[in-house]
Formats: sequence, C-alpha cells, structure tokens
Amino acid sequence: MLAAASATLAATLVAAAGAPAPPLAGLVVNVDPGHNPGNASHPAQVNRIVERGPIRKACDTTGTATNGGYPEWRFTGLLATRLARRLRAQGATVTFTRANGRPAWGPCITGRAAIGNRADVSISLHADGAPAGARGFHVIRPAFVRGWTGDITRRSTTLAVQVRNGLRALRGGIPPSTYAGRDGIDVRADLGGLTLSDVPKVMVEHGNMRNAADARLLTSPAEQERLAAALTGAIVRWRVAEGRD
Ligand code: ZN
Repeated sequence: MLAAASATLAATLVAAAGAPAPPLAGLVVNVDPGHNPGNASHPAQVNRIVERGPIRKACDTTGTATNGGYPEWRFTGLLATRLARRLRAQGATVTFTRANGRPAWGPCITGRAAIGNRADVSISLHADGAPAGARGFHVIRPAFVRGWTGDITRRSTTLAVQVRNGLRALRGGIPPSTYAGRDGIDVRADLGGLTLSDVPKVMVEHGNMRNAADARLLTSPAEQERLAAALTGAIVRWRVAEGRD
C-alpha cells in the first residue's frame, strides 16, 4: 500500500511540475459591458460632453433595447459575467468597467478607456439598434488616428479578425452584419473607447436588437454562453498569434 501511495504521489508531483500553464495565464483582460442600467436616471451626468484629444462626445448613452424591451445593458452585463468566468478558467485576470451595480451610471467613455488601459487587452460588449430589416454582428477596430492609435492598430486588427472568425463559426448563430462594415469587421475613428485606448481593443456589436431573429438569439442564455465561449477562444488564439510575432 505504501509503495502504491508513493507512486501515486510521485505521479501527482510529476503532473504538477509538467502541467502547461493555462493559455491566458499572466494576461489581464478588461471586459467593458456597454452602457449602464443607471444611465437613464442620470441624464445630466451621462449627457455631459467629455473631451480628450480628438474625441468630443457625450459621457455615455443609455444604449438600445429589443422591441420587447430587453435592454442592451442587460445583455452586455450578462455576457460580461459569462465571459469573465470563461476567461478566468483559462488563467486570465479579469477587470470590469462596471459590475454589480457599480458605478451607478457610466463610466464615461474616457473612464472606460482609462480602466481598460490598466489591462493588457480590452473588449467592449454591445448590441446595436439598427432598422429592423438589418441583421448581424460586426466587430469594430480602431482606425489609425495619428498620435493616438498608431501603437494599437495592428494588434487590435489581429484581435478583431480572431473575434470575427469565432463569432462567424457559430453554427446557427448571428451572421456577419448586412449593414455595417465588411465581412463582420468595421473600422472607426470616432469612438472614444477605441481611440483613447493604449492597449489592443475591439468593440463588438453582437447583433441588431431591433431585428427579430437577432433579438431572439441575443436574449437567449444558451446563446450568450456560446458567444462567451467564442470570445474566449478568440482571445486565446489572439494571444497565441501574438506570441509568434
Ligand atoms: Zn451599445
């Protein structure tokens, strides 16, 4: 019995020493759920214009909703929780721009970017409010803005491609957008959360909440879990690709 126990212990020690680190070990991922349930009751704070560099915009917005009244902030908050659980399971440290009702509104786009800048990579979660006949997801990456995004455009583009690939691969899921960007990827210079980022970042519009087919998927807990898995896989592949450079 003693010999068997020792052999088991030895095997355990070997396994522990030889176990590869999880794929996201050592990586800090900022998860930025768009909007805030408190924004509607704080119009003065949320509508205030914030300025930084080339960006001059409202602090934040209330976001959109499905025709049935399911708000975007609920979708982004639930998806953020699911995503964080999966990222941590892969070894990542996760930070949020908002969680568990805090802060009570916002943060402003400038604050969201600042929180993201303390991580290694950041991902903003949204869903869109486009005309009902339009559907699909699009991943927004930062455009080149001289003096602001030159340091993050290449790595953000790699991230955008991986996220697009992951979402597009979901069988029966929301297809690439019929109305924004190209092949599920859009490029924008006017979004503070992207232009003010110092770390690779993308903003994902997961679908059109005003489209019935997209809304049915976006509000489904099972689909939210599939989206979280796809985003996690994309971040793992992005990190592997980064390591090859
Ligand atoms: Zn949004």
